[in-house]
Amino acid sequence: MYCPICQTPSSQFLAYNRRPKARCPGCRSLERHRRQVKEGLELGVLPIKAGKRILHAAPEGFLRRFLSPEALYHTMDLHSRPGVMFEADLCKLPFPDNSYDIVWASHVLEHIEDVDRAIAEVFRVLDVGGVAMLDVPISSGPSRRVQPAKLNHHHYWQPGQDWPERYRKAGFQVAPFKGISALFCFKACASLERLWSSLQ
Ligand SMILES: [Zn+2]
Repeated sequence: MYCPICQTPSSQFLAYNRRPKARCPGCRSLERHRRQVKEGLELGVLPIKAGKRILHAAPEGFLRRFLSPEALYHTMDLHSRPGVMFEADLCKLPFPDNSYDIVWASHVLEHIEDVDRAIAEVFRVLDVGGVAMLDVPISSGPSRRVQPAKLNHHHYWQPGQDWPERYRKAGFQVAPFKGISALFCFKACASLERLWSSLQ
C-alpha cells in the first residue's frame, strides 16, 4: 500500500488527531483525501482531462496533481483566501446552469444548514453527464441535524448511512456506496441512467 497522491509507502504514514497512520508525510494528505483519489481514479473521474470544467469548493491543493493544465479550474469558498478565485455561497452559486463537468466539495456540506439547497445548486451548475464529489464524514447511525459548536467542528449535520438518499432525491445517481465510500454523484441523462443501472 502507498499514498495514491504522492506514492509515499503507507508504512511511513504519521499519526494525526489520535488516528495512527493518518497523515502522509509526503503530501500531508489524510485518509479521506487518499480514499477520494483512489475511488476517483477507479471511476475514471481522475485525472481531470483537458477541456473539462471543474468547480472546487473549499479547495485542497492535492487535486491540482490530477488536473490537466488545459482544464478550466475554478475554486470557491465562503470566505476569500489565497487560492480561492470566487467568494461564493454554495446555496446561491453565481454560475449559470450546466456550467461545470465536475464539482468537488469534500467535507463541506455538513457545515451548511440549508444543505438540500446547496445540493440542488450543485446539481443545477453541473452539466448533464457531470459528476459531483460530495464526500462528508459518515457515522454509523441515521443522519441527524446537530447544533454547530467548536467541539463538532461547526457542523450542522451528522451524516449517517442514509445520507446518499439526499443526493438521490436531488436527482443524482450515486456511485455504489460501501459505507465509507467517497460519495461520487452523477448527473446523468436518461441514456446514461440506463447504462448506469445495467452496471450495478
Ligand atoms: Zn502522499
